[in-house]
Amino acid sequence: MVNAAVDSGKPCEPIFLSIVVPCYNEHDGIPELIKRCRQSASESFGDSYEIVLVDDGSSDRTWHVISEQTQQNGRIVGIKLSRNFGHQVALTAGLSAVNGELVLVIDADLQDPPELLPEMMKVMKQTSADVVYGQRKKRSGESWFKKKSASVFYRLLKRATDITIPIDAGDFRLMTRRVADLVAQMPERDRFIRGMVASVGFKQVPIFYDRQARFAGTTKYPLSKMLRFAIDAFLGYSMVLLRVSSISAVLLLVAILAVSGYSLYSWLYLEVVPGWTSLMISLLVVSFFQLASLSIISEYVGRIYLSTKERPLFIIDQVRRSN
Ligand code: UDP
Ligand code: MG
Repeated sequence: MVNAAVDSGKPCEPIFLSIVVPCYNEHDGIPELIKRCRQSASESFGDSYEIVLVDDGSSDRTWHVISEQTQQNGRIVGIKLSRNFGHQVALTAGLSAVNGELVLVIDADLQDPPELLPEMMKVMKQTSADVVYGQRKKRSGESWFKKKSASVFYRLLKRATDITIPIDAGDFRLMTRRVADLVAQMPERDRFIRGMVASVGFKQVPIFYDRQARFAGTTKYPLSKMLRFAIDAFLGYSMVLLRVSSISAVLLLVAILAVSGYSLYSWLYLEVVPGWTSLMISLLVVSFFQLASLSIISEYVGRIYLSTKERPLFIIDQVRRSN
């Protein structure tokens, strides 16, 4: 069950737009985020919007700030998860709680400008698309390593998968409710939301923008989390790694044929001196491929194991709404 726990807090009347924001230790930026989201949403939708802020087990004052905001401002929903479940799961929790006919997903750090909403709406109308996703032209305020690794990641992923996952696009996107519901209801545990949205299909169009520097705080994606995210994306959407063992087996076969041919030739025509070095090298090469294949298989098996446990994807501690 992915979203059963969220339904209890939902009011019934339909609204036009829900903005979903996963927040992890973002207390400094939230008031500004809400201010700018409200401005942008009320321009296009008047009062018919809500902002769903998901506190992903923050250890700073994030929940306090969210609770305060639900008291001060109308149309704000705060959802507090029981611990840190990670960006993609927090996003799923938010998607499970929305009431809007349209859903905008945005990060809490204002790297993606909420002011793009009217333009996204326009593109959605003009193209009759179900998804309008932000594609980054420039990324300000991010390290060379982050930009480079992201660029390599998106390009490798594009080659490795069968579905079209857009290059240089994050989770900043406007989508119809049917897409949001489909994604929220997907039961998979290793969630890579931009891949999941892409896999739903329908018409999906880009809108190009410059990514800003963070408004406050620092990135919540250290190298370890980035690696985890990249592995989830590759294992979740591609069988390429699983095929490494088959490819290495083919390579090994070629090597075995070549070495055997050479040994036979030496045995027939040359003075044979038993080669300790070549034996060692071949032993190492074979062991390496065996280990590499095994470790990849164990990644998949581990995931199957975890998913058979059917633990809840997230657990909600509290829900707050403005009156
Ligand atoms: N985030 C989250 N849980 C986490 C890590 C991040 O909810 O465990 C949120 C974070 O607060 C932000 C969004 O996910 O709203 C993206 O994180 P961040 O901006 O740190 O990533 P970056 O833009 O540096 O890739
Ligand atoms: Mg960010």
